[in-house]
Amino acid sequence: MPVDYQPYEMLDKVMTLDMSLRNAIEKLYKSSRNLTGEAPLTYAAAKALIDETKPGDVVFFLTGLLVRSAFTTDIAESDGPIGIATLIYTMQRALNITPVIVADKTMVQPLATVMRHVGYSRIPIDTVQGACAPSKRPTRAYAIVTMSEDAVTAITEAKELLNRFNPAAIISCERGGPNEFGITHNSQGKDISYGHCRSDLLFKTAFEDSGRTVTIGIGDGGNEVGMGNIHDDLYEWLPHGDVCCCGCGGGIIPETKCDVLVSSTVSNWGASALAAAIVIMTGKQEALAGIDVHRNAIEGTAAAGFIDSPTGEIATRIDGMDMPVHLAIAEEFAQIARSYLNSHADMWEKK
Ligand SMILES: [Zn+2]
Repeated sequence: MPVDYQPYEMLDKVMTLDMSLRNAIEKLYKSSRNLTGEAPLTYAAAKALIDETKPGDVVFFLTGLLVRSAFTTDIAESDGPIGIATLIYTMQRALNITPVIVADKTMVQPLATVMRHVGYSRIPIDTVQGACAPSKRPTRAYAIVTMSEDAVTAITEAKELLNRFNPAAIISCERGGPNEFGITHNSQGKDISYGHCRSDLLFKTAFEDSGRTVTIGIGDGGNEVGMGNIHDDLYEWLPHGDVCCCGCGGGIIPETKCDVLVSSTVSNWGASALAAAIVIMTGKQEALAGIDVHRNAIEGTAAAGFIDSPTGEIATRIDGMDMPVHLAIAEEFAQIARSYLNSHADMWEKK
């Protein structure tokens, strides 16, 4: 039977609505979609994750963009953490994964605050797999690890993490990706490397290892982990894609590549659309992160001190757009999943 791409096409469409009028997403999406062909991005990413994941498997999640690192490493933006929190919510319920967040050391507490707002307890890395084992009385749990800012040390750490946990997947959402000189840039071409751990090298090592670990990059601006997949296209049009402002000798396009690149207007939207695709593909409607989960995640980022990067303010606002916009988008993803699953209910009925 041919695959019914319709619900995934609709998820792709909603996650790429250019509500912020940045004129970037159309190009980012076109380049990303060229790599998946007839499969929508949400379909390609969900399929890869579901195919490779067994209950109990560890999945690493990368996020955190220290958008004011020239002044302090304590400030990160609110795009990214919400996507990771809501994606973990769905992936753990639908696929029984063991979530492990990889974060900069200044972001451990803020991310823990966001996770608490979506109902998750932080568990030490040594016991998180036991805590996440499927159970009638589950523990909604995750662990956080940090990595070094030094590339040589980080590569050693990456190999240790991959050997120890044999992750089914690594998912990056709005994580700054260093260029070939190891410099992470913001979209204005400035060097914001300071304070960023080299979690990209975990991602890169897994991708290049060509083992079973699926790598998914989610981004919205062209400077995030995974955007190396569309380097040549970005080089043509992305501001500072060819030459940055920091004098490192490169541009802002990250070196890292991934198995599936998900480009969306806001990175959080890409993560939520992917979560909805996983629900559609598994039929597990109970794993949908509803509007309350999204509201809690957004309020959690404000409580944790994440900022809306364009305005620089700690607020329930992401990428310059207020909370109701993000809740509406999240609800549209959920409705697409519900519409599909309810109209195909017989597929999921127990015989
Ligand atoms: Zn530079």
